[in-house]
Amino acid sequence: MTDGMTHEAASEALEALALDALDASERAEVLAHVAGCAECQRELAALERTSNELALAAAPLAMAPAQRDRIRARLLARAGAERAVAERAFAEQRAESSGPARPSEVVTLRAPRRGMGTSAWMAMAAGLVAIVGMGGYMSARRERDALRASLQAAQAERGVRLAAVDSLRATLEDKDRMIANLTGAQVAVMTMASQSPTSPTGRMFWDQAHNAWTLVAHRVPMPKSGRTYQLWLVTPTAKINAGTFMPKPDGEVMVRATMAMPTDSLAAVAVTDEPMGGSAQPTTAPMMVATAR
Ligand SMILES: [Zn+2]
Repeated sequence: MTDGMTHEAASEALEALALDALDASERAEVLAHVAGCAECQRELAALERTSNELALAAAPLAMAPAQRDRIRARLLARAGAERAVAERAFAEQRAESSGPARPSEVVTLRAPRRGMGTSAWMAMAAGLVAIVGMGGYMSARRERDALRASLQAAQAERGVRLAAVDSLRATLEDKDRMIANLTGAQVAVMTMASQSPTSPTGRMFWDQAHNAWTLVAHRVPMPKSGRTYQLWLVTPTAKINAGTFMPKPDGEVMVRATMAMPTDSLAAVAVTDEPMGGSAQPTTAPMMVATAR
């Protein structure tokens, strides 16, 4: 026995696991449970069969509404828990900026502040890390630098603090958009296939209501020096550049792009290896690809 995830929690997470909606640490926890649980192994095998069938069918496939609702509820519950911490810190910042000596209501807000000047910000930072960690979405270094900058700002004067609060709020709103782009009512999911020796896995989430494209991939090898990956949206008549990206050192990838496209004109989604800066058109065979119809 371990102190790891319960069967109930792991069982609920299997669908999210199959859709790459878990971050690396949660995926590891779920897999650790699955390794010792025959029931979860059977369930995961069934989900993987479905996933493979989807990959063979290779048509964009909308998530079943019930499945989408369960995953969205999971993501929202996590984001909501972190948001509560952040909102409380926002309230404290606002209360402080509006000047001293306000009546008891403010005292209530301020009471937990004793000794929390920095720790409230640390809690907020931890909360943001948890939100951002979902799916390994952003470069860890960029996040850490942004949070460090926010913490420094928190120690500076009030005006600067308020600017930092606004930027943190914008970050939270961006996470809300991301959740919508992964679990909205008009999101098509495509499974990427790859011949690469590291067996990368990936899924493209196409939020057709917002023209938002989110590629989530794992085990993507680092390109050779001077090279980068480039994402392409392929139609019968064009290969549309959707931007270049690098995997994180642990092989995690999250790429977001905004591109309008009629729902019936997508032929494929592809990732190629290109010279740094990207190419006007692909110059190598796709490293990962999902074919639509
Ligand atoms: Zn289990």
